[in-house]
Amino acid sequence: MVPRRLIVGNWKMNPGSLTLAKRLLGRIRRRAEKLRRTELIICPPALFLPLFGRSNSITLGAQDVSFHHDGAHTGEISPAMFRSLGVEYSIIGHSERRESGDTDEIVAQKLAAALEYRLRPILCVGERERDQSGVYLKVIRAQIESALQKIPKSELKLLVIAYEPVWAIGVRARGASTPEDFLEQSIYIRKILSTFTDTATALRVPVLYGGSVDAENAAPFLDKGKAHGLLVGRESLDIEEFGKILRSAEVL
Ligand code: PEP
Repeated sequence: MVPRRLIVGNWKMNPGSLTLAKRLLGRIRRRAEKLRRTELIICPPALFLPLFGRSNSITLGAQDVSFHHDGAHTGEISPAMFRSLGVEYSIIGHSERRESGDTDEIVAQKLAAALEYRLRPILCVGERERDQSGVYLKVIRAQIESALQKIPKSELKLLVIAYEPVWAIGVRARGASTPEDFLEQSIYIRKILSTFTDTATALRVPVLYGGSVDAENAAPFLDKGKAHGLLVGRESLDIEEFGKILRSAEVL
């Protein structure tokens, strides 16, 4: 069976109201119902999650998760709480969370907590800067190694990795990376994974590309770059553009 593509829409702190969230969801749902070969994972702000209900066409994801199980942790949401709302995935280690203080150690704790509740982690890794001497490769290796060091081998089949070079993310980005570069990085990432598990499992972990994905570059990343899927920020809020990205995932 051909594995389904994963397209992740990270809404970040958007849209600005419940009314707008309902409208956006309605429009996405119409497109999602037509998908056959693509798993669409939407990560809305947590308070909009109940709007989605239990849907067959949209899989729910969290944008972040606490490593605490319960108790006095103001503002945090536990893996069990997300699971009780039908959430199946959680982004972990997004560069915007790392910027707000998530160290490699915290990312590792979040990953372990998510797996304990069968919440599939979408582990974001990626360098801030691309240097000539290859230090950035060490950064990617360190992010993966520290996140996985305490994870039992058997759990790695639940893992998803998103390679998101920080310089390619968001409105301040220099622009997207290239499919050729992504392909190289994904091979490197699988090599690191194969030190944690057998080659077959390392090859099965979906490696997604993220960073200024749009309707134009989605197809090349999936086709030439052999990305298993895409993590889409801004363009997941523009239903026309996002619809085109989903169509690329369906046909490639
Ligand atoms: C992201 O949020 O991870 C992201 C890749 O954002 P954008 O697509 O807007 O660059």
